[in-house]
Amino acid sequence: MINKNTADVIVIGSGVAGLSVAMEFRKRGLSVRVFERQFLASGATSRAAGLIGQMRSNADAIRLIQDSLRIIREVEARTGMRILHETGSVRIAQTPDRAKELEIDIAIARASGLKVDTIDTHALEQRMPYMRVDDVLLASLCPTDCYLEPPALAQGYIAVGRELGVEYHEHEPVNALCVDAGQVTGVTTANATYNAPIVINAGGPWAELVAHYAEQTLPTAGIKHFYFTTLPESGIAIDENSPSLRDRENRIYARPRNGCLRVGIYEAMPINVDMRALPADFSMQSVTAGLDHPTSRALLDSAVRRFPGITPATPMDIRGGIMAFTPDGAPLIGEIPGLSGFYHCAGFCGHGVSQSAAMGPAMADIILHGTCPYDVALIAADRFADWPDLHDRHAVARNCAQVYANYYGKAATQ
Ligand SMILES: Cc1cc2nc3c(=O)[nH]c(=O)nc-3n(C[C@H](O)[C@H](O)[C@H](O)COP(=O)(O)OP(=O)(O)OC[C@H]3O[C@@H](n4cnc5c(N)ncnc54)[C@H](O)[C@@H]3O)c2cc1C
Repeated sequence: MINKNTADVIVIGSGVAGLSVAMEFRKRGLSVRVFERQFLASGATSRAAGLIGQMRSNADAIRLIQDSLRIIREVEARTGMRILHETGSVRIAQTPDRAKELEIDIAIARASGLKVDTIDTHALEQRMPYMRVDDVLLASLCPTDCYLEPPALAQGYIAVGRELGVEYHEHEPVNALCVDAGQVTGVTTANATYNAPIVINAGGPWAELVAHYAEQTLPTAGIKHFYFTTLPESGIAIDENSPSLRDRENRIYARPRNGCLRVGIYEAMPINVDMRALPADFSMQSVTAGLDHPTSRALLDSAVRRFPGITPATPMDIRGGIMAFTPDGAPLIGEIPGLSGFYHCAGFCGHGVSQSAAMGPAMADIILHGTCPYDVALIAADRFADWPDLHDRHAVARNCAQVYANYYGKAATQ
């Protein structure tokens, strides 16, 4: 039984990152409290599209997603929940540059031991009859890629956490850190002070504000992101076992959802969000857009090009959320020198759902043993310490927006 108002570890934020970290620490025998400003998993996690793709730009990143999939399967086995839909995923290239880019990524994947096949347009048409394929020069299929409903993943982490004794404090925002002689000693909320020698900032897009409690600067910027899901009355019926899709040339991704089609966009003109300007009761559920929104128009234009069944009149639900981007697209993990015991686990850009399961053990390894199985230098929270623009919010926002715009941007052929 956990003592009143104390814990070995306090986690600020109950998105997939915080929940996974909490679950892992409890598995290792430490007592854990999770604090959430709203209801559990109500942040970016509640709005994520739910694609998990293993084809990444380097072997380390591929391994991290593979580890995540393995851990999610352990959560499934432990809870009896079905979380993963292993339908595979397709990437298409419509120009010679995109084909070259895809060939490079296939080679990286195969060198890392990930099975990726090429698939001809006839086979593609059979698997995805709702998609235009006549312009496809090259297509890949990664058969073990998955999609999931992000709230279900969060529920899986919570179910294991509850079984193990993690204490969840909903609707109890952390307002400040307690610090003594350069060591964090706990947090305060409107209800009480809670003591712990380890405090983890898993505040998602709000993590930069949580870092300010320690007078630290986290170079993250909130960026809006949107997708639509067709409604059943649209008449569009997609087999739930269809692969998900990435069409970088059109900047879109897609996946089945309950017989309907979900399509999202990494647009060229991202919309920055100043997290400090949002009201304290801001809800991620309020991020929606009408058909006249510039991003909705770009999204629809691209979707119409790829899916002949979609028109601007197709009944659909357009929704979005805020991603926490960093200036190099990698998360911010670990301590920033000057304060012991305060660790960041944030800045997951568009990959937090995919990376979350493996981040639990990685955080625990870093905090308890000073290292983890991934290249720590690439994700270290203090890697921007010498960057001249670190304290310039506008420069951080500009750089993060550039990374977002380049997610599916110009074909990288080198
Ligand atoms: C529209 C959209 C689509 C996406 N699609 C995908 C996808 O297909 N695949 C993928 O891998 N990723 C996707 N992502 C990214 C993914 O959702 C995020 O990377 C991931 O959810 C981040 O998890 P998190 O735990 O870091 O943050 P969050 O889920 O935002 O959790 C942080 C939590 O901290 C809480 N909090 C903040 N401050 C405090 C405080 N002071 N006290 C207490 N609690 C606090 C917040 O309320 C919030 O619940 C998508 C994101 C969006 C917005």
